[in-house]
Amino acid sequence: PIGRVVVIGGGYAGTSAAKYIRMWSMGSIEVVVIEPSPQFVSCPLSNLVLGGSQQINDLTFGYDLLQKHHGIRWVQDSVTAVDTDAKKVTMQRGEINYDRLIVAPGVDFIYDRLLQLQSAEAQKQVPHAWKAGWQTVNLRQQLEAMPDGGVFVITIPKAPYRCPPGPYERICQVAYYLKANKPKSKIIVLDANAEIVSKKGLFTKVWASNYAGMIDYRPNSDIASVDVSTKTVATEFEQVKADVLNVIPPQRAGKPAQMAHLLASEYPWCDVDFLSYESKLVPNVHVVGDSVASGLPKSAHMATSQARVCASAIVELMQGRSPDTAPVFANTCYSFVDDKQAMHVANVYRYDAAKKIMVSAEGGGVSLAPSDKEGAYAKAWAHNIWSDVLT
Ligand code: FAD
Repeated sequence: PIGRVVVIGGGYAGTSAAKYIRMWSMGSIEVVVIEPSPQFVSCPLSNLVLGGSQQINDLTFGYDLLQKHHGIRWVQDSVTAVDTDAKKVTMQRGEINYDRLIVAPGVDFIYDRLLQLQSAEAQKQVPHAWKAGWQTVNLRQQLEAMPDGGVFVITIPKAPYRCPPGPYERICQVAYYLKANKPKSKIIVLDANAEIVSKKGLFTKVWASNYAGMIDYRPNSDIASVDVSTKTVATEFEQVKADVLNVIPPQRAGKPAQMAHLLASEYPWCDVDFLSYESKLVPNVHVVGDSVASGLPKSAHMATSQARVCASAIVELMQGRSPDTAPVFANTCYSFVDDKQAMHVANVYRYDAAKKIMVSAEGGGVSLAPSDKEGAYAKAWAHNIWSDVLT
């Protein structure tokens, strides 16, 4: 091999970067992925587990095909330290050197004002379910156990956070389940933002037409504290008690990005060069996916788009050439409003050489209305991206 790339994180961004470096370097670059989880669990479609039309097993996949097809070295372990001077990554069980490092750890939750929520025990009572897996299943079970006439409270952090339309899709899914099974129940939304962050017009319409009278949306409601034992959250203005409480904490770049000192001083995300995704702070270290500070939506589609630009740049750089100077990519985020109907937001982004950022091109936008057809597209989108990142 002409060198070794170590990838931290086998989520959407890390798997894509690993695969395309192996493919585009014709196997001449060694790639090692470090990922603690034995399986890949998809966040996209995980809100449908709450609605009841998907099971978590439908969204859970092995990593074996990806490793086998592309000759990727896989280490099932967790990164505990990164020494960017020595170009060395330390894991719970060993260490490894790199020529270039890709940091793709997704998001980390900020518990400063939510200290009570830090333990796994507390998260069993009040799950975030913002990383798909046992918490998603736990939240579904809590909804199943909730009495008819109960109150589901969801809190949404200030943007930017992972998946801008995700919380609003979740509200639709919970409403869909409650309407059919516990119609006297209510949903209270405490949104730290001044308004619905994504697809506002569409969500507002769907809530009014499909779920009339069920959803009490309260903007500018940043939570100040939470009491796990009584499932009560406090904002500046009020105390709200829930039967089922879903607190989505504020977010920042994942822990390995913090260990490598990649976070900007002004905000808790990583500044990168958009031609290569190399960190602006540390050379030979690239960041892709949700951890990037970009103004771009933090989505799985975006994570894979960034990862391909990064992979191509690394292949060029390690072979002594320069990265492409005009990257273009797309992003689509579907939201399901019930078990069948979905709606989208989609944009193409091009590199702006003067501003040195990715800017959205003319012509993007959102659906006119949710439809069954878009529901089918959304499922196809998910199957395509899974097959792209996992085989
Ligand atoms: P992840 O996919 O989270 O991957 C990060 C990986 O890093 C994880 O596997 C983790 O185990 C690993 N890691 C973390 N710490 C360490 C460590 N110390 N050592 C080693 N590895 C580590 N996006 C869409 O495009 N469409 C959708 O419809 C959509 N729906 C969503 C619905 C919900 C409910 C949620 C929560 C998100 C949704 N998203 C959607 C967003 C999407 O899931 C994320 O944007 C995407 O997962 C980001 O990819 P990533 O690789 O940056 O992070």
